[in-house]
Amino acid sequence: KLYNQVQDLKGNIRVYCRVRPFLPGQLNYFSTVDHIEEGTITISTPARNGKGYKSFTFNKVFGPSATQEEVFSDTQQLIRSVLDGFNVCIFAYGQTGSGKTYTMTGPKDLNEHTQGVNYRALSDLFLLAQQRKDTFRYDVSVQMIEIYNEQYSLIIITLEIRNSSQSGLSVPDASLVHVSSTADVIDLMIVGQRNRAVGATALNDRSSRSHSCLTVHVQGRDLTSGAILRGCMHLVDLAGSERVDKSEVTGDRLKEAQHINKSLSALGDVISSLAQKNSHVPYRNSKLTQLLQDSLGGQAKTLMFVHISPEPDAVGETISTLKFAERVA
Ligand code: ADP
Ligand code: MG
Repeated sequence: KLYNQVQDLKGNIRVYCRVRPFLPGQLNYFSTVDHIEEGTITISTPARNGKGYKSFTFNKVFGPSATQEEVFSDTQQLIRSVLDGFNVCIFAYGQTGSGKTYTMTGPKDLNEHTQGVNYRALSDLFLLAQQRKDTFRYDVSVQMIEIYNEQYSLIIITLEIRNSSQSGLSVPDASLVHVSSTADVIDLMIVGQRNRAVGATALNDRSSRSHSCLTVHVQGRDLTSGAILRGCMHLVDLAGSERVDKSEVTGDRLKEAQHINKSLSALGDVISSLAQKNSHVPYRNSKLTQLLQDSLGGQAKTLMFVHISPEPDAVGETISTLKFAERVA
């Protein structure tokens, strides 16, 4: 019995690696990715980093030509489980420029092919809820929260007030909006992105130094039995994982870097202690893990997309990203 529970816990954490393609104008670069075989990625380190090969194994590795649709395809079962009352966290981890926002949101020119996980997850959710309309009544609410320097700020909140479950988080200045379709949510996300973008120019691309979390709460009522199910899904575009050189940054930048470092290692600690079925899970060590506490561990399901950049210049960060990911996998 216990053995099964342990297996389940471990089975509830999945790690996928995604390699960003070279960008236009980078045609003559060598990739640090030597090869990808099933779930194993092999990195070749250039001579100046001590020439050699390092392999890392994950649940899946998506190469540079993987489409948004392929990357999302395995995620569909997680969306279904949210409607069945489970909690789900999906993270995008990686250094700035490695493709986190591309995976979660998409590129600037968004269309049905380039849409990221957030859009696909929401439209699947509404579609599935619609398909179940004769058996379940679902209420969906969405909120977008940014964590910057270990402080929450609300970008958008849309709340369904009825029977709201207490998550221990009180969010200031909530403006309430009712959502009933994907179109509503996408409109709100665009407003949210715009709000973030305004802050970004003002604060020198703050978006790469904050965690942004789109949370979807779902409440379903079984129309025959009257039973209530609650599930929630957090879609998290994490702050850039790159290490900054302490000798080069001071003041606000150093403080930001320390906060990011602290919260990403706290997240790594939480996920790896769940994977290793430790009895103590250190949720209290960062705002991020506090916010997500109810959705990490227990019956909850976690998916981490780990992103790497293919450039030789990035190889140091690539290796440390893959080591982080291997620890939680
Ligand atoms: P991050 O959010 O990790 O800082 P971005 O998602 O902004 O990185 O990606 C950096 C750049 O690379 C952007 O111009 C983005 O459109 C592009 N990019 C990232 N991933 C892909 C991909 N899989 N295919 C095509 N372009 C990508
Ligand atoms: Mg980004």
